[in-house]
Amino acid sequence: PESITVQELANRMAEKGADLVKALFKMGTAVTLNQPIDQDTAELLVEEFGHRIQRVSEADVEIGMEGEVDAPETLKPRAPVVTIMGHVDHGKTSLLDALRGTDVVAGESGGITQHIGAYQVTTKKGDVITFLDTPGHEAFSEMRARGANVTDIVILVVAADDGLMPQTIEAINHTKAAGVPMIVAINKCDKPEANPQKVRERLLSEEIVVEDMGGDVQDVEVSALKKTGLDELIDKILLQAEVMELTANPDRQAEGNVIEAQLDKGRGAVATVLVRKGTLKVGDTFVIGAESGKVRALVNDKGQNVKVAGPSTPVEVLGLSGVPLAGDQLTVVENEARAREVAAYRQEQATKKRTTTAPTSFEHMFSALN
Ligand code: GDP
Ligand code: MG
Repeated sequence: PESITVQELANRMAEKGADLVKALFKMGTAVTLNQPIDQDTAELLVEEFGHRIQRVSEADVEIGMEGEVDAPETLKPRAPVVTIMGHVDHGKTSLLDALRGTDVVAGESGGITQHIGAYQVTTKKGDVITFLDTPGHEAFSEMRARGANVTDIVILVVAADDGLMPQTIEAINHTKAAGVPMIVAINKCDKPEANPQKVRERLLSEEIVVEDMGGDVQDVEVSALKKTGLDELIDKILLQAEVMELTANPDRQAEGNVIEAQLDKGRGAVATVLVRKGTLKVGDTFVIGAESGKVRALVNDKGQNVKVAGPSTPVEVLGLSGVPLAGDQLTVVENEARAREVAAYRQEQATKKRTTTAPTSFEHMFSALN
């Protein structure tokens, strides 16, 4: 439905209907209990009463787990998930490579770094950061369009010799639209013609005020080529992550999103999945987009076989019935019958979507108020 009545909303918030009517009146809206209110007004009310809006994921609703919210005491800290964006040739790939080079675990494990669409870096102090290895705005907005907001922090790369360019502005807009905090990495500072101050000033006109200019957006001068400023950048990512208090419940059936997927000659359909919550295990039965399967093997970003993958971990999943799309959700289910049921449902939905434009569901949004 496009709206909800005051009474229904009160029920879901476990508040008295009359109190909502009063609050609405104060906000300048005179309504009765059985009158419908629009989504914006409902959101305002929810906030007014100090409740949180829990957007229930599509998969949860489909498989009848709606409202299943992880209790606060089950939540444990998880690694931040970082995406690098910026104008072409400003050094996104170089920076990703340089950051990957700071990983203290890669050397020890002897594992060959694999390109699986995402990788994890363990810092000298033992903190872990997950980087999405697919820079670019298309990947970012495609994922978002599919309902997968997997990025916690965006690193905006701006070349200090080139300044803000069209795709820089585009990246800023994507980041703002997603409501994701940004750290500005001013790259190529090794170049004689580099002018980082000019970048900071120019950012002002995009309403991005870095700390030096009295704002709260962190910025750092780096050179992906000379590998300078990387430790500082990592510290700033960790600081941002700390403020965000990123958590997930590792002790439940896994949910995650497809980062990339392809058909592999020897291994069949393979998807790199970023686990969002829970722990994915070898042997788990799952639905992934409109496909399903049973985890035959899990391979980490170092090319090693692992038995489990917890929150914020990117992992290659083998044992899929077919190739899913980037952004598709993986949901672990009880058994194969359930997996087939959900997969069939999703396939049906996908067909419907092609013929009708699906409205954003108001119902889903309010189905788990707490
Ligand atoms: P992308 O298109 O944003 O991924 O940019 P790339 O990482 O491919 O880099 C574009 C070009 O800039 C390459 O020739 C890099 O070698 C060069 N480059 C990247 N980072 C730096 C840097 O910090 N300093 C200098 N001097 N060149 C850089
Ligand atoms: Mg590149």
